Amino acid sequence: MWQFDSEFAEIIQRSPSVKSFRFPIRTRSAPYKPGQFFFLTIKINGRPAVHHFSFSSSPTDQGYIEFTKRITQHDFSQALDKMPVGSWAHLQGPQGNFVLPSNGSKIASLTGGIGITPVRSMLRYIAHQKLDYDMVLLFGNSSIEEIVFREELDELAASRPAIRVEHVLSGPNIPPGWKGKTGLIGKDLVIELVPDYLARLFLISGPPSVVMTLVEQLSALKVPQDHIMRDSFTGYD
Ligand SMILES: Cc1cc2nc3c(=O)[nH]c(=O)nc-3n(C[C@H](O)[C@H](O)[C@H](O)COP(=O)(O)OP(=O)(O)OC[C@H]3O[C@@H](n4cnc5c(N)ncnc54)[C@H](O)[C@@H]3O)c2cc1C
Repeated sequence: MWQFDSEFAEIIQRSPSVKSFRFPIRTRSAPYKPGQFFFLTIKINGRPAVHHFSFSSSPTDQGYIEFTKRITQHDFSQALDKMPVGSWAHLQGPQGNFVLPSNGSKIASLTGGIGITPVRSMLRYIAHQKLDYDMVLLFGNSSIEEIVFREELDELAASRPAIRVEHVLSGPNIPPGWKGKTGLIGKDLVIELVPDYLARLFLISGPPSVVMTLVEQLSALKVPQDHIMRDSFTGYD
């Protein structure tokens, strides 16, 4: 376990409602596994406030640690949103068992919205290390503008035949000419897009309501519970 004081080094707008926050690190590579999370402390009106965040960076990203947050109207988000570069923060981690299985495994990741953060860390790691995972990602979002990391994910899939990214838009505003799927990720889309679903390990991440719904859908398909790994972002309603 490590912990250190740091400063916000960079803030990146990823979509209308999502921002990434970066902190510098001195070591060449950071001591965490893709998919893990850390505790972030900031000061709100002079008082420390702590939240968990998955790393959206990969340990292979040199010189920084990054997390990515959906900015809500709640206190912590609002404080983060107003945080200027250079503000104090305390980081402590890493924690969590939501990590990649052994190299070469067949994986299916189901996620929506901000739940992409640990999966993005894993995919960057797989690409940087040229690993042999066979991975399909079903990524649900309400609109095209809200698909965080869209270009990066699509480029990654285009450059690696064993990685496939399927975007699913729930609407209501589906753009004309949209070539991806529409609706909500559920058992029908899993059957259609992941026909070998019984041979895969599922990684499910996001707010608790999303995780619970997706686990129920997989249970309806008789996917064994020990083939499902989950990362629940408690703190979202
Ligand atoms: C393992 C893990 C990983 C996570 N990774 C991520 C991630 O990568 N990205 C991400 O965005 N989130 C992540 N989260 C969730 C994150 O820690 C926050 O809980 C979440 O982002 C909500 O923060 P917020 O700023 O919207 O709300 P907060 O201000 O923390 O509010 C949370 C809840 O408290 C209530 N509340 C807030 N203020 C008040 C008040 N004054 N009075 C009464 N009620 C109040 C709100 O209704 C809300 O339901 C993760 C959580 C876990 C457990």
